[in-house]
Amino acid sequence: MLKDKIEKHLLEVQKPSRYIGGEVGSVIKDKSKVDVRFAFCFPDTYDIGMSHLGMKILYSLTNERENYWCERCFAPSEDFEAVMRENDIPLYALESLDPIKDFDFIGFTMQYELSYANVLNMLDLAGIPIFSKDRTQELTQIVIAGGPCVCNPEPLADFFDICVLGEGEEVNLELMDLYYELKKEGATRDEFLRKACQIEGVYVPKFYEFVYKDDGTIDHIETTNGAPEVIRKRIIRDLDKVYYPDNFVVPFTEIVQDRVSVEVLRGCIRGCRFCQAGFIYRPFREKHAETVCRSAKNLCKNTGYDEISLASLSTSDHSEIDPMLTKLLDYTVSEKINLSLPSLRVDNFSESLLEKIKRVRKSGLTFAAEGGTQRLRDVINKNVSEEEIMNTCRIAFEGGYSSVKLYFMMGLPTETDEDIVGIAELANRIIDLYYSIENRPKGRGVQISISCATFVPKPFTPFQFEPQDTREMIEHKQKLLLDSIKTKKIKVSYHNPDVSMLEVILAKGDRRLCKAVYAAWKKGCKFDSWDEYFHFDKWLEAFEECGIDTSFYANRRFEYDEILPWDHLDYLVSKEFLVRENKTARQSKTTPNCRLRCSGCGVNKKVGRECF
Ligand code: SF4
Repeated sequence: MLKDKIEKHLLEVQKPSRYIGGEVGSVIKDKSKVDVRFAFCFPDTYDIGMSHLGMKILYSLTNERENYWCERCFAPSEDFEAVMRENDIPLYALESLDPIKDFDFIGFTMQYELSYANVLNMLDLAGIPIFSKDRTQELTQIVIAGGPCVCNPEPLADFFDICVLGEGEEVNLELMDLYYELKKEGATRDEFLRKACQIEGVYVPKFYEFVYKDDGTIDHIETTNGAPEVIRKRIIRDLDKVYYPDNFVVPFTEIVQDRVSVEVLRGCIRGCRFCQAGFIYRPFREKHAETVCRSAKNLCKNTGYDEISLASLSTSDHSEIDPMLTKLLDYTVSEKINLSLPSLRVDNFSESLLEKIKRVRKSGLTFAAEGGTQRLRDVINKNVSEEEIMNTCRIAFEGGYSSVKLYFMMGLPTETDEDIVGIAELANRIIDLYYSIENRPKGRGVQISISCATFVPKPFTPFQFEPQDTREMIEHKQKLLLDSIKTKKIKVSYHNPDVSMLEVILAKGDRRLCKAVYAAWKKGCKFDSWDEYFHFDKWLEAFEECGIDTSFYANRRFEYDEILPWDHLDYLVSKEFLVRENKTARQSKTTPNCRLRCSGCGVNKKVGRECF
């Protein structure tokens, strides 16, 4: 039995509890009474995947159906993978410990580009053919993918049978229902895929053929098998009515987000031009404060967690944020439960909000300023003025904080040396502000931490057309920033620009990249988001061997009228709007948030909803 084999080797590896299941809250069913089995695969380790809210929702939702069984599966760490390969242990699901190759659906959630190679590794470990074309016509082992990265799934198109665009609560069950019906009729894989692609939000990559021009850009896309020309993403219309679990699986081992996570809202009203999540999750929808509080209480009661985090892109944009926090704090303070608020913006950071946060936060404050000068912040539509940044810092310092962490991006469109020096100057002005405040924390010096990421232009943003800076340009800017800082009160950290380059290639790539992803995995690439496993040289070798010019994807401006690899996927935001926003950015002009004025992104109109 697989269980005996696994248990025999568990003590040879680190964190064995990742691999054995049996956690409180995990769902066990009698498989003789189950009709459809779904392996929900997270292409990273247990500790990271178990923190993922989407998995928790879809796991519980699917398991509400008596005859469907959703189980969890994660990428094993290097040590356990070696044990698995040596002892012929195929990749298995944690609930039943059955090999996932025996499942009906093998579903991957694609949260970041750097997990792509892990998908191939997991399919290989499972004993499932890596390329969809090599899977048999038998109706089983349907490999599907969802999550933000499938807004451009082309670099993985050869590996997935189906990509699910948008929110999965409804469409996943529709797919499983269709599968169940067709399985009873003895249908083939292709018969199922032909019917599945008629469901809104379901994309079957192999029914689309890309024809390229001589210059390498896309000439046109041909559809086959009656597949729709455009595939529109799915959304949930009413967040108060949509299913939300009352229980989570509680791990034995520590995970990244080891707490109750309560969803507050989806979408974003802001329109920061670099932010993919801000566009692909539109329209903006909120849960009522009542719903949020009810979920928080139920989850704490059922899981025993004593910490709650509010999950959203921008929690402080909730229209009922103050009454919601007051209600939640009444509960959390009386029950001795911690409350953390991860997403705050500097422009709506009020004293009353700080008062509330101070009751729950002990660590320093972090803010995303993104650009060092007002001009650049206007280009990226980070509607935040220096006055607001200063005001926020003043409130924080007067409230007892002496350290602030500021996030910036380097390589933003139109960026000049002046904008880079502007980061250091802004930090200097925050230091001056600290020492000008009489009631600042006594006896403590100020500490400003600057964290700089390299800008990655992403599909479905107004910056999707933009090139990324080359390595030389980024290195010049990094040096310039360091040279501009003259005090130890400012600390700077950078992200590795090679990582950002791989991200942009995979984010903006087309189907021709599949062979390079395969080649890189063959060379041993996996866990690319982990510094110790990131081997850019191997990726570069793979690109070269496959005849891929990386600068074509990373450093080339995509034309407005060019067919982009993701143009046949409809994420509701219109391309005309993205072009308009790109042009507005180049004039350093801002676009107000949706509550102030609609800028016509087209999202709500398409789905027949009112905006604000
Ligand atoms: S349609 Fe207007 S208000 Fe609605 S999300 Fe788009 S820009 Fe914002």
